[in-house]
Amino acid sequence: REAAAWEARFEPAQTRDGHRVEVAANLGNTAHAGDAVERGAEGVGLLRTEFLFMAHAQEPDLDTQIAEYREALDALDGRPLVARTLDVGGDKPLPYWPVPKEDNPFLGLRGIRLALTRPEVLETQLRAMLMAAAPAAKSEGQGRPLRIMLPMVKDIAEFRAAKRIFDHLLETTPEAERTTDVQLGVMIEVPSCALLAPTLAAEVDFFSVGTNDLTQYTLAIDRGHPELSAQADGLHPAVLKLIEMTVVAAHAHGKWVGVCGELASDAVAVPVLVGLGVDELSVSARQVPLVKARLREFDLAEARAQAQLALTQATSEAVRDALEVR
Ligand code: PEP
Ligand code: MG
Repeated sequence: REAAAWEARFEPAQTRDGHRVEVAANLGNTAHAGDAVERGAEGVGLLRTEFLFMAHAQEPDLDTQIAEYREALDALDGRPLVARTLDVGGDKPLPYWPVPKEDNPFLGLRGIRLALTRPEVLETQLRAMLMAAAPAAKSEGQGRPLRIMLPMVKDIAEFRAAKRIFDHLLETTPEAERTTDVQLGVMIEVPSCALLAPTLAAEVDFFSVGTNDLTQYTLAIDRGHPELSAQADGLHPAVLKLIEMTVVAAHAHGKWVGVCGELASDAVAVPVLVGLGVDELSVSARQVPLVKARLREFDLAEARAQAQLALTQATSEAVRDALEVR
């Protein structure tokens, strides 16, 4: 089965009846973008840029960041790059950005909250991304497809604060002005954002659901807890309802929705997510051929039926029992 999946890795990602779902790769290192393409990835759906920051003893400067993002865009050769702005704090400390000790780091200064306390760092990162994607000259067209996403957003105020910085950059950076194939979206990782997706969907360009954190915050289970983390299952109907609300709101505004948490590579979850209307699945590069192969095993009507069945269950165990891959 694995050999067949590998053989077919460059086939477009679609269900048996031809419903297209983009399958992209999650990356922590821009040097691995070429490998992801070799494994059949149709883009990068999550570049965790915090690893770039963690690899340096101090904040990487503008040129260092441009070179890194350009490396990924070059390897992707026209395929989209979804790059997440710095997601540190809490459980992912940066040695050169000391955060006061917190009793509950997962509920503390992290993600976009932390970034907005250092707007100059966020600004440099956004500038580097825009410049890396820009065409070298005006005659070269619109530049490479760049989707920038903001982590741990809790409501539209945080999105607007980041977008103000972004819009100002577009106006003041001549190279950035030429990067016209760029979108700004938010991760859906905090339940408040899924509940308020209709207000966000009007203003963002896209959503990407981070099911690892969304599950943690919905079920109140630490995703890394030695005893409890097995219960932090993204197939919980409460999590699925939040994903459904997100997709309905996004599609009503013509926006797309990806899933970049671990749920996206779960064989039982793939048809459920497709049935809920998710447009893109971003998984570890290693899983790309397998997720593409999984998509070819069902058609859209079956996926929709599975999603509806899952939504009516009471627990994640019940969802898994009902949908067991046969
Ligand atoms: C997530 O939370 O699902 C996610 C993709 O982000 P990370 O795992 O990096 O927190
Ligand atoms: Mg997360």
